[in-house]
Amino acid sequence: MTVSPSVPAGKGRVLIVGATGFIGQFITQACIDTGRPTYVLVRSTPRCLSKAKAIKALEDKGVTILHGVISDQELMEKILKEHEIDIVISAVGGATILDQLTLVHAMKAVGTIKRFLPSEFGHDVDRADPVEPGLTMYQEKRQVRRLIEESGVPYTYICCNSIASWPYYNNTHPSEVLPPLDQFQIYGDGSVKAYFVAGTDIGKLTMKTVDDIRAVNKNVHFRPSCNYLNINELASLWEKKIGRTLPKVTVSEDDLLAAAAENIIPQSIVAAFTHDIFIKGCQVNFSIDGPYNVDVGTLYPDETFRTMDECFHDFFMKIENKHVAAEEEITPNHVVEPLPIPMCA
Ligand code: NDP
Repeated sequence: MTVSPSVPAGKGRVLIVGATGFIGQFITQACIDTGRPTYVLVRSTPRCLSKAKAIKALEDKGVTILHGVISDQELMEKILKEHEIDIVISAVGGATILDQLTLVHAMKAVGTIKRFLPSEFGHDVDRADPVEPGLTMYQEKRQVRRLIEESGVPYTYICCNSIASWPYYNNTHPSEVLPPLDQFQIYGDGSVKAYFVAGTDIGKLTMKTVDDIRAVNKNVHFRPSCNYLNINELASLWEKKIGRTLPKVTVSEDDLLAAAAENIIPQSIVAAFTHDIFIKGCQVNFSIDGPYNVDVGTLYPDETFRTMDECFHDFFMKIENKHVAAEEEITPNHVVEPLPIPMCA
């Protein structure tokens, strides 16, 4: 069975699964920043050049790269034992949520894991109730939760709400995409609030929980009051950045439900979540109470969040940088230095 639920602060060996993914990259960087021994499990053949480069960059930062998949129980047990892993964080994507069941079996068999953070990083899936096909993903996440709880492996569920970006309803990773420059699509009357969190903050605060005894067997909710905004407010914020107003079109509840019903994966899953967030108010229609829930702001009152204003500024600078780069390109005999592109996530 599992040993002591606490690890000496900052010392535990961390295995991250999904480090090359969208959320996983933030967790991995934050883990490296803490100075912990960091291990990353990657699938044997990186699927594209950018992933191969990302893996090399991690190696260069001192991360130990391990190869394999979490659905191989024997391999996972071997890795957990050989490297004396204390903490496991999974950020696998929506398509492979159930692969984590085998990982849980491996952690239970090994019996030394002091904390497991499964691939959550969104809503409290036991409370939110999106329409299909979003519901199927939540049912899978719930299934993983139940097995973890039954296994006795200490866990923390990170409920970090929305990534800081324009919440396009048909986009899986909106923080990689600029907010609108032609028109806004406003969901319903645009008045339902949500919480937006920068990816770097998701990483930083997730890492604080991993050996915090106050987060054992709890949902940790991210509710930064500075980023508690509805979509009308987001639109005004972006208009201030770009210095002009944009037309607004309404995407009604029925439009979102129709997009979800099309069942095109993953876009329809995002439409289902958008409906749940901006029509039903799934992030804000409950209070954080009871013994199994804690607000990350209560745990770490001194930590600040990047504001949506700052994040939108980063997006605006991307546009500015593109303009500068385009102007430089048409200047003859001029060597152009590549500009660092800020990413707000
Ligand atoms: P991605 O699809 O971007 O990345 C998934 C990662 O997991 C990749 O590195 C992939 O490896 C790896 N992986 C997948 N299956 C396996 C496996 N069986 N064994 C080993 N590695 C595996 O995922 P996301 O970042 O989009 O999603 C992660 C979590 O974050 C999900 O739970 C999702 O719901 C949530 N999320 C939350 C958002 C929010 O706004 N709050 C936004 C986006 C996601 P490979 O490189 O080989 O493909």
